Amino acid sequence: MTKVRKLEETETTRRQIRTLLEAGSHTAKEISSSIHRPEKEVESHLEHLRKSLRREGRPLGQIPAECRDCGFVFRKRDRLKAPSRCPVCKGEAISDPSFRLAGGQG
Ligand SMILES: [Zn+2]
Repeated sequence: MTKVRKLEETETTRRQIRTLLEAGSHTAKEISSSIHRPEKEVESHLEHLRKSLRREGRPLGQIPAECRDCGFVFRKRDRLKAPSRCPVCKGEAISDPSFRLAGGQG
């Protein structure tokens, strides 16, 4: 695969992710299955997207991970993946954080 080809693919993938996030909130896992890309790759695209959106003045919205057992919300966590265990109840049923992109109208 040539370098140019690879770059085009990356651009296409990022555009697909943007479109998904503009339509509604998605977890990294959901994005991964929608665009048929490994979750690890989606995470690196999301990191990149977060930076370029910030430059455009459109922050990437993140809905924090939450413990399904006690409702504890991992607000301070900036990672793309849910932590494995809740610090409050030690439960392991933790929802993944999801991402969304607000529309251009505000
Ligand atoms: Zn908990």
